[in-house]
Amino acid sequence: MSTDTDRYIGRFAPSPTGPLHFGSLVCALGSYLDAVAHGGQWLVRMEDLDPPREEPGAAQRILHTLQAHGLHGHGPVLWQSQRHARYDAVLQQLRERQLLYPCHCSRAQIRSNGGHDNERCRAGQFPADGASALRLHSAGASETFDDLWQGPQTQQIREDTILKRRDGLYAYQLAVVVDDIDQGITHIVRGADLLETSGAQQLLFRTLGAAPPQFGHLPLVMGPDGHQKLSKQNHAPAVDDSHPAQNLYSALAFLGFHAAAELAGEAPEHILKWAAARWQRHQVNTRNRQPG
Ligand code: GLU
Repeated sequence: MSTDTDRYIGRFAPSPTGPLHFGSLVCALGSYLDAVAHGGQWLVRMEDLDPPREEPGAAQRILHTLQAHGLHGHGPVLWQSQRHARYDAVLQQLRERQLLYPCHCSRAQIRSNGGHDNERCRAGQFPADGASALRLHSAGASETFDDLWQGPQTQQIREDTILKRRDGLYAYQLAVVVDDIDQGITHIVRGADLLETSGAQQLLFRTLGAAPPQFGHLPLVMGPDGHQKLSKQNHAPAVDDSHPAQNLYSALAFLGFHAAAELAGEAPEHILKWAAARWQRHQVNTRNRQPG
């Protein structure tokens, strides 16, 4: 695991399923500040892996929102849609190591099977065909890590991780880990909704011979009902790019950093500098809650 004295490379990795909302701005800001405050670099990766779920124009809109808020990446944007050959090569490598098997089971079938994968699939009794997913032998493993904000975690891997989906698309779990390895990411700072995916990702890092990064999961911005996180599904409004300073000021307050009101009138770059100089991990308010 990385320590703070190592080189720090962080990232923000949005999926272009819609424009950024306040919750995603909080994650972008938190990951940026943690990187910059530790003398690190911050990269932006567009996780455009799932065209059916994507919204036309969303990727460019997200990039525009980041720019408008002074959140400039320290390197070119990495687009997952351009990385298919790399994902294929990793799958091939895992196949040669006999760590993958084709699986035809739906989630419902696996659930009705008591949460375990179909033993006949696992035993490799079915050939791969156009309708099979590729799974990594991983169920039964257990991963522990110390999250920067959520504390010590132990996660049991209950299901063999899908690395390629039945519809032929590369799975998020595969792409995110391969890209984090290839970009040399040392710190993954993101929303707490992804905490439960971390154990399987950590296992995949190690399976691929890479040291797992430090994980840090930030508090979630809850929607109007107080029970669900802000999301496209509960009609979270897009961040308004014409008021970047106020948005940053509110996102900072959500994270637990209260600036003087005058700061909300400054340029975004100035606010980010102010915040990076004061960023303290222990000061982050880790409670999932509604803003304000
Ligand atoms: N693309 C994922 C999302 O927008 C985030 C991936 C990650 O940060 O690991 O939910």
